Amino acid sequence: MSFTRYTHLAAALLLGSALSTQAQTPSQADAVAKIRDEGLNRSQVMRTLSYLTDVIGPRLTGTPALRRANEWTRDELTRIGCQNARLEAWGPFGRGWTLRGFEASMTTPQVRPLEAFPKAWSPNTEVKDAEVVWVNAQSVAELEKFRGKLRGKVVLSGPIREVKPHFEPEATRLTEKDLLRMADSPGPEDKPVVPGAQTPEAQERQRQRRRSLMLAATRATFYQQEGVAFILDPSRAGDGGNIFVQQASVATTLDTTNMEAMWRSGVKPWDKSAPTIVPQAAVGIETYNRLARMLDQGERVTVSLRLQAEFHDQDLNAYNTLAELPGTDKKDEVVMLGGHLDSWHGGTGATDNAAGVAVCMEAMRILKAAGLQPRRTIRVALWSGEEQGLYGSEAYVKQHLGERLPVPAGAPAGTVGRVVTKPDHAKLSAYYNLDNGAGKIRGIYLQGNEAARAVFRPWLHMFKDLGASTITADNTGGTDHLSFDEVGLPGFQFIQDDLEYFTRTHHSTQDVYDRAPTEDMKQAATIMAAMVYLTAMRDEPIPRKPLPGTKPAAKPVRRS
Ligand SMILES: [Zn+2]
Repeated sequence: MSFTRYTHLAAALLLGSALSTQAQTPSQADAVAKIRDEGLNRSQVMRTLSYLTDVIGPRLTGTPALRRANEWTRDELTRIGCQNARLEAWGPFGRGWTLRGFEASMTTPQVRPLEAFPKAWSPNTEVKDAEVVWVNAQSVAELEKFRGKLRGKVVLSGPIREVKPHFEPEATRLTEKDLLRMADSPGPEDKPVVPGAQTPEAQERQRQRRRSLMLAATRATFYQQEGVAFILDPSRAGDGGNIFVQQASVATTLDTTNMEAMWRSGVKPWDKSAPTIVPQAAVGIETYNRLARMLDQGERVTVSLRLQAEFHDQDLNAYNTLAELPGTDKKDEVVMLGGHLDSWHGGTGATDNAAGVAVCMEAMRILKAAGLQPRRTIRVALWSGEEQGLYGSEAYVKQHLGERLPVPAGAPAGTVGRVVTKPDHAKLSAYYNLDNGAGKIRGIYLQGNEAARAVFRPWLHMFKDLGASTITADNTGGTDHLSFDEVGLPGFQFIQDDLEYFTRTHHSTQDVYDRAPTEDMKQAATIMAAMVYLTAMRDEPIPRKPLPGTKPAAKPVRRS
């Protein structure tokens, strides 16, 4: 709405809303009381979580299991009273992968089952009593020493990781001090914005990450060229039999010393045309360490491994599930909420991110059961392909809302691509995401949208007793609100308690239903319902940041 039209309409709107909203809709406080009553006293959120995790199980993108989850969530959203529940295809993503069988045992010097879990997109194989070699190479030169020595061998790839006693608790909640620090945090406008121009520590972290990615790509290529039979990696975190496991690494035909080229056009294991992958599994750390130490002592070790997997390449598309609660006088405008339906395959994707999905579905149910009529349409979106790169939400935004064009060649450093919008871009008030585990909501990240602070302040204040009133100017990344933020739409992720997300559940075999506390889930669903409802009822949409590309980046920092 333009400024002129706004001033003409202001008086009428003020009078009209005073009459109509009081006559037809409950006051804000009454509505929130109804939401709290339904969400905290008659919750269904754990039942939804159990179906997604226990019954459907892991939901790797491209698999029939994820398709089943898409269809079940669609039908369930219809059952609870949503309209227009549907699947929307995006893609092509690539091929899916389902584990059909796995056995792993040490056979020499003793027989012992190995605590190991196959990496996704590993191909079928069977190796009997194969010799194990420890390739503890931390550089390309060290790797070269193994040339010609690995054919038909099973490789332990990488160093021993020290296991420490658990003096520190694995689960944490944000303390009052943590929350205060977040509330006081400067917004991203006060931090460097030029990509690559972060603090020296951040630069060093980035350099290290690139070095390790380069070494990983070099290793994968080397093992494939050398005819390695099977790769066993140490679980990157966790202990006590917990295994963190994601996708297999793929050999590359690119020059692995050219990081930029690899970064841009790296081959993905789910690509239909991906080169042959050496079968790979992650191994529980105590088991891995023992195998490595035995070899170090000069002991001969053999293992037998059998892996059966099914690749799904009939339909290379993936699907998002969407459904709506239609609005009333502002039904053409939309408020969105979402989480991602896809997961990794080692656990049942409970905290990442069936929790977010169950919370969003429960928020829709709460609003319907409380008999509330939103003015704007409320649309829930359950994404896929998040784990491989926010693909599902990115495709949705591109198809319906807008996209950011690539930076033209030769543009000065710090230039951001121009955003091209579709008509629905103007009609989306906000998108709310939940994908930082199963911990309760403690507040919200403004994502640099300072103008939204005054809107959220009184809303979250209503949830102070549930510990959810912190507002931080800060950004958070790594999940689907970024797809909206990227094109200048207000996309928010809530602040959540970590619980055991990073120590135990995130992408691990322990990401299961039992790690999601009921009280946290109920709290999150109640607050999610209230936030989308209040957004849908507001006269004005949520304020926006300036569209990226329309304004020079604030406080630019020179590249060093
Ligand atoms: Zn994840």
